[in-house]
Amino acid sequence: MKVRLTKFLREQLRRANRFADADGWKLLDQVETTPERNCVDVPVGEFFPSVDEFSPGSQTLHQRDKIGRLCHGCPVADECLAGALLRGERYGGWGGVAQPDFQALRRLWRQRYSDVVDEPDASEVA
Ligand code: SF4
Repeated sequence: MKVRLTKFLREQLRRANRFADADGWKLLDQVETTPERNCVDVPVGEFFPSVDEFSPGSQTLHQRDKIGRLCHGCPVADECLAGALLRGERYGGWGGVAQPDFQALRRLWRQRYSDVVDEPDASEVA
């Protein structure tokens, strides 16, 4: 199934691509050893809901709102997101991207859309 490359997903790919040559496990170490990360006292289950990319939109919106709040301003958000993609994580909210969106993003990442993400949006070309 094809994933529509929305502006949001493109932006997430841009974030992750900064670390495209990194080791996903080292990025995880970096995240986990950063005491300032937002989720240091948050139960891990908060990031692993039963909602997936095929769930009803209202559930996805709820997850986006929740993960967006939890991760907002986290100092290692980009490392968190990139590491999860590099390790091939299948589940979870990472780097401020809720699980349903992460699963769509993961498929794009695996399809190696990295050569597409630097192209500007049509709205950016004036
Ligand atoms: S981006 Fe979110 S999940 Fe990742 S370390 Fe920060 S608070 Fe935790």
